Amino acid sequence: MAVQLTKSPIVKECIGCDNIEGDFCRIWATPAAKWRLGACASATHVKPEAKAEAAKVRVGQQKQKKK
Ligand code: SF4
Repeated sequence: MAVQLTKSPIVKECIGCDNIEGDFCRIWATPAAKWRLGACASATHVKPEAKAEAAKVRVGQQKQKKK
């Protein structure tokens, strides 16, 4: 008997993503795992807010010393 690849259905965070096919994800077998550590990296409906936030924060601009 051949081993069947089992896919897990999408999670609620996936709703709105273009990678959904029926109840499953086109890319990932276990969508829940993709959301466990934050937003899914392949999500098409999620803006990378963390990146925008990081770009805004600038710490200590150093002035160049004049001789
Ligand atoms: S790519 Fe990510 S967000 Fe989109 S359906 Fe798949 S697991 Fe969900």
